[in-house]
Amino acid sequence: MIKNIGFIGLGKMGLPMAKNLLEKGYNVFGADVSENALEEHRASGGHTGNIQDWIHQVQCIILMLPSSVIVNKILEEIIAVSTSGNQTNQDALMIIDMSSSYPADTRKNHKKLEQYNIGFIDAPVSGGVKKAVDGTLTIMAGGRAIHFEKCKRLLEAMGSNISLVGPSGSGHLIKAINNYLSATHLLASCEAVQLLENFGVEPEKAIHVINQSTGRSGSTEYKFPNFILTEAYNSGFSLELIKKDIGMANQLFKDANAATSLPQFIYQRFSEASSALDKEADHTEINKFVSTYLLQRGILNDENEKTVPGGSDSGIDVRPGSLR
Ligand code: NAD
Repeated sequence: MIKNIGFIGLGKMGLPMAKNLLEKGYNVFGADVSENALEEHRASGGHTGNIQDWIHQVQCIILMLPSSVIVNKILEEIIAVSTSGNQTNQDALMIIDMSSSYPADTRKNHKKLEQYNIGFIDAPVSGGVKKAVDGTLTIMAGGRAIHFEKCKRLLEAMGSNISLVGPSGSGHLIKAINNYLSATHLLASCEAVQLLENFGVEPEKAIHVINQSTGRSGSTEYKFPNFILTEAYNSGFSLELIKKDIGMANQLFKDANAATSLPQFIYQRFSEASSALDKEADHTEINKFVSTYLLQRGILNDENEKTVPGGSDSGIDVRPGSLR
């Protein structure tokens, strides 16, 4: 039975998720490169220390890290330390990658960990910081049913919609595609509302009507009222992280040789916004970037699309900090 958990990556999502585990009675050993994050975890009642300090005491390790590159590196470290020294818990060790990671890497990791008798599932989440705090995240898992069942109770401490969606990597696949869709809705909604505003329609009224109609989405129903119309831009999900997700989805469409250019187009827009905005920008700040380019009349009518918004010949100032 899982009682002691290692939790690596105590950021905007990881900290509240670890706190919910603590509140449900689990012992949580946290690790992060940020001293502030470790302090916050200790303040919630968690333990901290290097992985080698606690690895032989835990039955499960949760990863909530920014990228597959970091996840892959940490997994190498876990394999190295778990196969050395006192291996009392080795048979029972489970790893859950709850980060939004690249599905092909996840499958490789699954195969590699099996060789060391370490169970592994991918279980990324949706719902953002608010649902991480409330413990009501949607969790989409990929992997073996036996491993999923082993982890289900602890996943229930962090989420309310929990399902096994397929073999290893499936959770990460759905997550990347979901965020690509979410980014597409967001970009289209920002452009549409800006167009209406330029025409003289108040954005609040436009959003109200769209939300009663078929153009509505999570962006118009939740992100606009809470983060964009208020100009708070504090959803807690960074532009860099959504750009990573769209990049993964774009690669997946390319790998499938799919005859579509939409994922590439959405990725290009978010990459331009990422170059133009602050490094720490929230993903909802794409609205600021849209406001800047949509007023550049004629750009989108350029035949053959020679000039792209934010491109070097677009005349838009996209230098870092130029939109602030
Ligand atoms: P974050 O940047 O706030 O947190 C990441 C944490 O990982 C940071 O505390 C950082 O210090 C730590 N970290 C980085 N490298 C490390 C290393 N080598 N060792 C230990 N710790 C390390 O990011 P976040 O918003 O919490 O997102 C985490 C994951 O969840 C990402 O994969 C993201 O795509 C995904 N996600 C985020 C949201 C959201 O709304 N923020 C929603 C769903 C999924």
